[in-house]
Amino acid sequence: MSVEKVLKLIKDEEAKIVDLRFVDLLGTWQHFSVPAHVIEEDTFTEGLGFDGSSIRGWQSINESDMLVVPDAQSAFLDPFTEVTTLNLICCILDPITKQPYPKHPRYITYKAQEYLKSTGIADTAFFGPELEFFILDSIRYDIKQNASYYFLDSQEGIWNSGKDEEPNLGYKIRNKEGYFPVAPTDSLQDLRTEMILNLEKVGIEVETHHHEVATAGQCEIDMKFSTLLDMADKVLKYKYIVKNTAAMYGKTVTFMPKPIFGDNGTGMHSHQSLWKDGKPLFAGNLYAGLSELAMYYMGGIIKHGKAIAAFTNPTINSYKRLVPGFEAPINLAYSSRNRSAALRIPMYSSSPKAKRVEVRFPDPSANPYLAFSAMLMAGIDGIINKIDPGEPLDKNIYDLPPQELANVPKAPASLEEALQALEDDHEFLLKGDVFSEDLIRTWIDYKKEKELKPYSMSINPLEFFMYFDA
Ligand code: GLU
Ligand code: MG
Ligand code: MG
Repeated sequence: MSVEKVLKLIKDEEAKIVDLRFVDLLGTWQHFSVPAHVIEEDTFTEGLGFDGSSIRGWQSINESDMLVVPDAQSAFLDPFTEVTTLNLICCILDPITKQPYPKHPRYITYKAQEYLKSTGIADTAFFGPELEFFILDSIRYDIKQNASYYFLDSQEGIWNSGKDEEPNLGYKIRNKEGYFPVAPTDSLQDLRTEMILNLEKVGIEVETHHHEVATAGQCEIDMKFSTLLDMADKVLKYKYIVKNTAAMYGKTVTFMPKPIFGDNGTGMHSHQSLWKDGKPLFAGNLYAGLSELAMYYMGGIIKHGKAIAAFTNPTINSYKRLVPGFEAPINLAYSSRNRSAALRIPMYSSSPKAKRVEVRFPDPSANPYLAFSAMLMAGIDGIINKIDPGEPLDKNIYDLPPQELANVPKAPASLEEALQALEDDHEFLLKGDVFSEDLIRTWIDYKKEKELKPYSMSINPLEFFMYFDA
């Protein structure tokens, strides 16, 4: 949408408020609002000032003045506000130099797209993330309740959660059988439909919605793929719409990767492909109909998989999802069929245009701008350096004896391990000045200080269960 069109939209819709939004380091939208009459043509070049000092991981207090410059393309009417409000996604500039702020994740994605073009490999990267989430009852849901009741499953020999039992007054989804019986077992049909109608209102094309495997209201809504930056914008729009639609029905949505012990976690499988001059570059006649370029792209993702996990799986909770038995990957291997592999090549369509790689380890606690950009940078590095992805692994990895997996690289087992991998392996991210040392340092320090440190000192309810009577 052009600037003129945005100004006309404000007028035609009689919008009273314009809400200015930008993504913080961790991937959450921040915002402030102005009366609609404040927005003029030059706001889209000159920007508006704000104090950036309290934004997580950004400026210190002595250099906190910043500018937001709205991106006219991003305009959408807010479906939830009572007063008509137009939302705009913004870039962040330094008010003195007028240069983009290097720690603004959206700018990194912009640079990743430019870098791809500058290599001559491709001009477009398409991304199609599949976000899953849990819809929980906001009145009943209590994190302590969820975590505080365990029993030892004698067959599986592991601790299992026995919480969340209610009187069985109706149909209940059995453990891991949420995928996908019709209503009344699936009681969230109308709510998901309401979500996709709202998504379409804000310009997001939806492909499908369904219940997911986990029992406690796990759902998935899939968007049509798009270009890298547009898709990252859409992920934040998607979270906004999904959470707020649920809130209107007295429900809460969480994108936390593993909210329920003993049941499936929440992934953000990310389908990706490269194109040049309108032609798909991933189709060929190698394994699963892939091109050599696509094989090298996978080689890059596998080689740098542990390091990029610091962005694609950036929370302590992320690594509680990457365990055997819950359809989440544990090994950095590829396969056309195998959902326990980290990279899958979907075979639904034989059209070269549909040829893509599905990276299965990311989860939606990621900042999509950083996660998608890191995957693209790893893939480009794979292509430039002709990195061999190794042999495909067409077996169920969960059932393989350890000796068969000895040479298959593993996904990191913890956030500490992923951050260490990022520290040791990030040259590929610095190419084309896409990521900076400063951003990577800030990310690692933030995660260590603000997340790992307090977590290491906290007391988990399971500790009471295991040790209270010691
Ligand atoms: N929820 C699973 C995960 O953690 C994925 C299920 C699916 O294949 O869609 O990645
Ligand atoms: Mg799914
Ligand atoms: Mg998938």
